[in-house]
Amino acid sequence: MLLERTNKQLKKIYKGIEKYCKDCDLCCFTYGWIMPCEESRYSKITNLISINKKVTCFDSFEENKFGGKCLEKIPRCKFYRSRKCKIHQIKPFDCLLYPVKVLYHPKKRRYSVVLSLDCPYIESLNKEDREYLKRQIVSFFSSMPEKIRKEYFSLVRDWEGITYRKEFESLEICSFSEDEIKLA
Ligand code: SF4
Ligand code: SF4
Repeated sequence: MLLERTNKQLKKIYKGIEKYCKDCDLCCFTYGWIMPCEESRYSKITNLISINKKVTCFDSFEENKFGGKCLEKIPRCKFYRSRKCKIHQIKPFDCLLYPVKVLYHPKKRRYSVVLSLDCPYIESLNKEDREYLKRQIVSFFSSMPEKIRKEYFSLVRDWEGITYRKEFESLEICSFSEDEIKLA
């Protein structure tokens, strides 16, 4: 219920993005990270993989010749087919959040909330609309339910420790210290 409400807020913030996502081929190269509160939902429809007993994601990995998973290669999500998300109506929080990403900086123990400038939807916004979107995102993170904020930020922190970050052009919207997030 909490998550549904939060996801609904994101859909409202990005109202109109579908037009740009239709047939866009830039997204969905991702591990497909799943928060603990989402696991039961997605385990019913697909295989999930737990990495280092810390983070969980869809099993979209390519296999090597010995049948092992190529964990080091960022896969294309298994639900991306015919240039569309096949689970569009129920996509995970991390997917709904995009074109906003949260990045963790271990040395500073800080999280940056950034806007991906490579996204055609973001490129289409004029200065005024982009500023409005930034304000909405700041407000979204400020009022995010504590349980979801903690689960999502700790997921971000943990995956940062085991994966290579993709390079992309971005703009920081706001940031939080580890203490502000109050992770256990
Ligand atoms: S890059 Fe932007 S427009 Fe393209 S699919 Fe992703 S969110 Fe949609
Ligand atoms: S679940 Fe859908 S939106 Fe998310 S990465 Fe997969 S195809 Fe893309």
